[in-house]
Amino acid sequence: GSGLLAGKKGLIMGLANERSIAWGVAKQARAAGAELAFTYAGDALEKRVRPLAASLDSDLVVPCDVTDLASIDAAFAEIGKRWGKLDFVLHAIAFSDKEELKGRYVDTSLDNFLLSMNVSCYSFTAVAQRAEKLMTDGGSLLTLTYVGAERVMPHYNVMGVAKAALEVSVKYMAKDLGRDRIRVNAISAGPIKTLAASGIGDFRYILKWNEYNAPLRRNVSIDEVGGSAVYFFSDLSSGVTGEIHHVDSGYNVIGMKLEDAPDI
Ligand code: NAD
Repeated sequence: GSGLLAGKKGLIMGLANERSIAWGVAKQARAAGAELAFTYAGDALEKRVRPLAASLDSDLVVPCDVTDLASIDAAFAEIGKRWGKLDFVLHAIAFSDKEELKGRYVDTSLDNFLLSMNVSCYSFTAVAQRAEKLMTDGGSLLTLTYVGAERVMPHYNVMGVAKAALEVSVKYMAKDLGRDRIRVNAISAGPIKTLAASGIGDFRYILKWNEYNAPLRRNVSIDEVGGSAVYFFSDLSSGVTGEIHHVDSGYNVIGMKLEDAPDI
């Protein structure tokens, strides 16, 4: 086949439904010629993920709950058995108790702090450990983050702390894996209405605020995140690693409410 990702094999982790950022990435990667595998978290999601995968010509769909290291091992073992190699991985996974995605960060419990850190940060490192062994011809690891890692956003709370740790882990892993030509990057996406986002307090206000105050005066789509992901998976970005790349209509550069922003 032809396309920027022709001949490449990639794993998509974090697909829940057709609103998922992982779906935007998977569609664009397939359109660019990649062969795809998918993981799903829990039996309930298998029924959703299998048909979506099939529509992108994939039947390599394996369970993986990142809170269970044995489950991550099993998923990579399965992919190794089928493909023998791997060129790229999308990690589009995060979780926090939604009771703690409102109110004050300072009230965060230890249990939810550790759970959020584990699922939203450590899991990317755990995935990198296993992907490294299959990326014998170099590779590209990509995760998703949010500007709440850099600056305080109301309600984002412990997830902001977890995303900050995730972003720094991208840089450390870029150094560790660079000798093997494995690149590690993150896309910092603007707000998008997904299942995970619906857990964040007052998410509709966040969407409106970004729409009115971003340089492009609109929100981004999962397909736009997917377009940037294709760049990171492809050899066009062969000189890029340890990067946090914003796909957010430029919102992150703005310092205050725009003069033409309507009231919300
Ligand atoms: P989503 O709900 O579609 O995807 C989140 C995924 O995480 C789901 O597929 C879910 O099954 C998976 N997941 C949760 N716990 C898991 C576990 N224990 N093991 C394996 N998988 C698990 O929502 P999304 O918005 O597409 O989220 C994808 C990523 O994008 C997340 O990292 C999120 O923080 C990030 N992000 C989202 C936005 C946004 O506004 N939606 C903005 C910036 C970054």
